Amino acid sequence: MSTRRMIDLRSDTVTKPDARMRKAMADAEVGDDVYREDPTIRVLERRAAEMFGREAALFVPSGTMGNLLAIHTHAERGQEVVCERLSHVYNYELSGMSSIAGVMPRVVIGVHGLMSWERIEPEIHPLQDHRAKTGLICLENTHNMAGGTVMTAAQTRAICDEARKQALPVHLDGARVFNAAAALGTSVAELTAAVDSVMFCFSKGLGAPVGSALVGGREFIEKARRTRKALGGGMRQAGVLAAAALVALEDSPALLPADHARARRLAEALAELPGVAIDPAAVVTNIVIFDVAETGMDAWGAAARLVANGAMCSPVDKTRVRLVTHRDINDDDIDFAIEGIRKALGGK
Ligand SMILES: *Cc1c(COP(=O)(O)O)cnc(C)c1O
Repeated sequence: MSTRRMIDLRSDTVTKPDARMRKAMADAEVGDDVYREDPTIRVLERRAAEMFGREAALFVPSGTMGNLLAIHTHAERGQEVVCERLSHVYNYELSGMSSIAGVMPRVVIGVHGLMSWERIEPEIHPLQDHRAKTGLICLENTHNMAGGTVMTAAQTRAICDEARKQALPVHLDGARVFNAAAALGTSVAELTAAVDSVMFCFSKGLGAPVGSALVGGREFIEKARRTRKALGGGMRQAGVLAAAALVALEDSPALLPADHARARRLAEALAELPGVAIDPAAVVTNIVIFDVAETGMDAWGAAARLVANGAMCSPVDKTRVRLVTHRDINDDDIDFAIEGIRKALGGK
């Protein structure tokens, strides 16, 4: 049996809990969190709220549930939710906003995933005889499918200030908001100060095994907590998971700039290959998306060659492939992956 070396760049969700996380999990004080008696969950929720300068936080099993709870809590059934065409809430959450929260997405096309008020404003409607009312605006930072692009605090605030004039709440899908903050050299509190609520993931760039958090006002979080229970997300002695998330929150933000530098190295290597389209300067966080249309291969063909050469990746559409750096990838792994990428795509 051969043990071929594989560098797993499919996603930053593939990380495994490190020794410090596993120790914290084994030692965690726990209780029944549905009774609000899990001390480790309480510490985590307080810490998350504090880091984002919010009144309250809620630990949830996944980012998808966090976004769904936010949409369900902010918007009413029959309303519209403004979101970007390539956004995660619109494309990768099994249409839960429609099937469960009962709202309809109203899609805006962003520039590299970035929405502006000029693009959002025409899509906002008051309730009329023929139109559903807009109930919420959803932003995404970093923007996953636009290639980990970031939105600044000023750009976020510009949208939120206008939304507030129309009494419209704004939710941020901040699955990778720590990556955005690291790339912009700011804190997550400053970056997200203008939005009404944020979902962020412990299980992505921060490297925890499970979980996300929803942060916002106390009343909003109380309402979301009841909906979490209704959806089957009430967890009992989940402090074992919160313990790992606490370690991730403490240790991982400082590691993100290195992940970003490694993603940039991948992008620079890709840019040298014939037929591969990518702008390395646009890679500012841990996601690298490149187009293989001009190589004569489709995304699946290119992905198969990459895997055969030791670099696991994700095709994202017909011609684009995604690589993601994360906590379990070091500089040597990147050297090896680049060598594989050159072998896989350099020949055509
Ligand atoms: C991963 C991700 C989520 C949530 O995903 P889960 O797998 O449900 O935790 C939400 N938004 C974005 C942008 C993501 O990348």
